[in-house]
Amino acid sequence: MKAIAVRPGQPNSVHMAELPMPAVANVPDGRGVLVRVLKIGVDATDREINDALYGASPPGYDFLVLGHESFGIVEEVGPAVKHVQPGDYVTCTVRRPGGSIFDQIGRSDITSEEVYYERGINLLHGYLTEYFVDDAEFIVRVPVGLKHLHVLAEPMSCAAKAVEQAFEAQKRLQVWKPERAFVTGAGQIGLLATLILRLRGMEVYTIARSGKPSLKAEIAEAYGSTYVSTRETSLKDLVEQVGKPDLIIEATGSSQVAFEAMEVLGHNGAIVWTSITGGQRNIQIPSDHVNLNWVLGNKLLLGSVNANYRHFESGIADMALGEVTYPGVTERILTNPVDGLENYTEMMRLLVEEKSALKVYVNVAEG
Ligand code: BGC
Ligand code: ZN
Repeated sequence: MKAIAVRPGQPNSVHMAELPMPAVANVPDGRGVLVRVLKIGVDATDREINDALYGASPPGYDFLVLGHESFGIVEEVGPAVKHVQPGDYVTCTVRRPGGSIFDQIGRSDITSEEVYYERGINLLHGYLTEYFVDDAEFIVRVPVGLKHLHVLAEPMSCAAKAVEQAFEAQKRLQVWKPERAFVTGAGQIGLLATLILRLRGMEVYTIARSGKPSLKAEIAEAYGSTYVSTRETSLKDLVEQVGKPDLIIEATGSSQVAFEAMEVLGHNGAIVWTSITGGQRNIQIPSDHVNLNWVLGNKLLLGSVNANYRHFESGIADMALGEVTYPGVTERILTNPVDGLENYTEMMRLLVEEKSALKVYVNVAEG
């Protein structure tokens, strides 16, 4: 079976590899689910892995099969599998449990171990291939009415977790009713976070570098958010105009913006960092000013990565609500299809060069 892989540690090593066909029986206790891959999304994480900034091969392999945003159709299930059946559309979670208490209670997304196992990213092969098998525990059903949003289920799960974590953590305040939210970054996570916050009734500002008109601005505004280009309006100017936010979801991919955002958060507010910054940047920050304001304002910073089964479910539920609230908007994120696994060079080219691409994905098979 064909698979698209990289050699971690070796820049620009994307290539076609071979994997054996998996079988339902590879998973013990009749819990196997065999999925025929239909579409796989790629994102900045795949780009960083191919740049050798991130990622590791599974033990015993000198390559890592890419792809963690999966969408496929169930071909076969083991006898113990009840929640999906052949013909169902599914996606699959990314992280697999290690040994910590969190891993054991189904919360590998918050593992306390420094080594983490993620399909297509770290120590486990991904889904950019023709078939995969996994334990039913990790297979999430995608309703047929959301088939057209396919690979967005995984990034949506990460956005859902980021927002949920802010609400969970803000229980410290006893009362928290965020009214104004800034989302920094208008890539897939930024736009999907914008959707979630708008569905919660917040006044949302989606803030990114590029000016208008642009597709990302159109999508943000179609969700009822205000799009702000930092070329025209800095974060501080925006705060002068509209006030400080109660919540910031940071998803630019830039550690500099992550720290800048700390300077504009309102009292009792929360900021969630979601950017994966594999580089080595160093910046200067006004640390006394930030420290003082954070202490005097009882502010909260939290990091959020990955998502578990429950976040996939809530993300998918919000995608459905999004479809009836803002019909036809979310699919506009799916900008750049690539036909066939053999076109992996084009896939990587789009990921690296096509600055306007919101989502590059591979059409692996029809179905
Ligand atoms: C993936 C997450 C993963 C993170 C860190 C992201 O691109 O979507 O599932 O946890 O990278 O590796
Ligand atoms: Zn990702």
